[in-house]
Amino acid sequence: MQNSEVKLAPCVYCGDDTRHHDKVPPKIFLDEEFYSGVASVPACYKCCQGYHLDEEYLACLVECAKCGTVDANAIERSIIKFIINEKPLLFEKLSKAKSPTGGFNFKSDSVRHAVVKLARLHAAHQMNEPLTKSPTSVIITPLDSMPFGERDKFETPPSPIIGSRAMRIMSAEVNGGYFTEWVDIQPGQYRHLTFVSEKIFSRIVLGEYLACEVAWE
Ligand SMILES: [Zn+2]
Repeated sequence: MQNSEVKLAPCVYCGDDTRHHDKVPPKIFLDEEFYSGVASVPACYKCCQGYHLDEEYLACLVECAKCGTVDANAIERSIIKFIINEKPLLFEKLSKAKSPTGGFNFKSDSVRHAVVKLARLHAAHQMNEPLTKSPTSVIITPLDSMPFGERDKFETPPSPIIGSRAMRIMSAEVNGGYFTEWVDIQPGQYRHLTFVSEKIFSRIVLGEYLACEVAWE
């Protein structure tokens, strides 16, 4: 199909009309055998480019934290190993995020920028409309540092409300019924739970290591 024949649609990040698309989630968060069948949403080239470096940093940071090192030789995911070898500035930034005691610091504008982007991607995809407003809360923390009660709450999908319009909009349709549960895009690598209750919530777990929750009023 010619590019001009692809219909214009509003970018999920800024609302401007575009023919460009973004993957849900972007490929850097998945291993190659999981690329096919990944959904996409309308997203303009400018927005996608604006997130690219922060997404790359987040994917690398999660992998470094899991492997406990910034040494590319000890990194498991081949794409991340390749990127760290190819990009000395990124390597330097990752090295600065590693504390002398071995932990990694996830408190940075780059991490927050990339996490909010991913959450917006899932929320917009499930609502089938752009979500351009700013979130009301953002939580980013390693899964194993969450207190038990908090972790339990984070992991538990909301109870379905039969006939709820919000639940229908935000839930996957399976066998003619609707439900909300974790979507395991790549086991051990990427899962998310996106739903509407009193707010719009998008929860994401990266590398079965980093827990993220972004909410919108
Ligand atoms: Zn845009």
